[in-house]
Amino acid sequence: MSLTTQIRRKARDLGFTAIGFTPATPLAGAQFYAHWVAMGYAGQMHYLEKYLDKREDPRKLVPGARTAICLGMDYYQPSPETDPLHGQIACYARGDDYHEVIKKRLAELWGFMLETAGADTQGRYFVDTAPVLERELAQRAGLGWWGKNTCLIDKRRGSYFFLAEIITDLELDYDEPAPDHCGTCTRCLDACPTDAFPEPYVLDATRCISYLSIELKESIPRDLRQGMGNWIFGCDICQQVCPWNRKPEPAPEPSYKSRPTLDNPSLLDLIQLDHDAFNDLFRRNPAKRPKRKGFLRNVAVALGNSGAQEAIPVLIAALDDEEPLVRAHVAWALGQLGGNEAREALVKRLTTEEEAEVRVELEEALTIFHNIRKTLTTTKV
Ligand code: SF4
Ligand code: SF4
Repeated sequence: MSLTTQIRRKARDLGFTAIGFTPATPLAGAQFYAHWVAMGYAGQMHYLEKYLDKREDPRKLVPGARTAICLGMDYYQPSPETDPLHGQIACYARGDDYHEVIKKRLAELWGFMLETAGADTQGRYFVDTAPVLERELAQRAGLGWWGKNTCLIDKRRGSYFFLAEIITDLELDYDEPAPDHCGTCTRCLDACPTDAFPEPYVLDATRCISYLSIELKESIPRDLRQGMGNWIFGCDICQQVCPWNRKPEPAPEPSYKSRPTLDNPSLLDLIQLDHDAFNDLFRRNPAKRPKRKGFLRNVAVALGNSGAQEAIPVLIAALDDEEPLVRAHVAWALGQLGGNEAREALVKRLTTEEEAEVRVELEEALTIFHNIRKTLTTTKV
């Protein structure tokens, strides 16, 4: 049995659901990537601006590299019916942290390769931790095509899979690149609630809910808040509408199974989480990444979008949250929900609030009430 087949089999035994091999040669997409970064589409993800030379050529990352072994691991979890008072978490993030799961499997696969090919084999393995243009490598290795929604898509398995790679000096048997099957479809482009695709195959991350809810450390731009709906960590919409994800199967890997506490959690409970409760809820889970203040910011936006008057008392209590970022978004949420109780709470908070960022949001929220009153008065006249 060839070494390539042995590695392929071992990877499957370890739970990888896709594996392909491609030469570790320079990537044509590096120029597109540099342009994408220059356009500002990476937002605050400044780490994406670094090591462009290594991204272009895997041999600069792993000297002597000949092969990139690209691996995929399915993560799909069915999404339960939702309602406005419950938040949605992207389905990759409702179980254990995939970095931890995949890193262990990669270490095992690497150990197997050293045993099988010889201890002097050189290489490194990565899951989201290195400057690698992994989607292009994986496309070249036959794992799928770069879709108009910028996800990698496989005709049979759809797009709900993580990517990882091993770059090594071994010479192995190579796969054929996957051709594009998007055709004339535009479903993902049409469905995106924040218009995050300036053109097909290009994502402006600064408008994407995944970026806004996870990577952005500051205030969410006001014009994008309503588009976030009840997504509180990530967003699956452009994958859900893709015809190649028509009948996704739940991932076989048990670590990714949705935790019941993260399947549409109650927004009213989440906005009340203190530090300990937050850490308990997201232990070994990826949704802890924005930290408590970023996560509660997202929850406040979702409550503002809920249209649910029963959220008002809980939001009023959250106007006293210790984090200015949370208070600012709670003020916005109260402005969206409206009503006398909300207005009085905003006015009261304005008398004591010292943070400029929060004061601006309180004043903006009160402007909405003012405008409504003006409209009503004008209508009566
Ligand atoms: Fe748009 Fe959501 Fe896809 Fe981001 S993840 S591009 S917000 S549909
Ligand atoms: Fe391609 Fe259509 Fe899927 Fe978008 S929804 S990635 S256009 S097949």
